[in-house]
Amino acid sequence: MPATDVLACPGCEAEVAFAAPPLLAEITECAECRTELEVVATDPVLLALAPEVEEDWGE
Ligand SMILES: [Zn+2]
Repeated sequence: MPATDVLACPGCEAEVAFAAPPLLAEITECAECRTELEVVATDPVLLALAPEVEEDWGE
């Protein structure tokens, strides 16, 4: 199994883990603050707050 990538959430600095290598422009969600995060770079992996769009927040 590949090593899990663990990054810091740019919103709350909680750890955000990826089970698989993150892909560019992949959207994930911080388990702590529920902020949507976008993978803006993969080497090294860099997360940014995803642009806010009106959509289902997954209640
Ligand atoms: Zn967070």
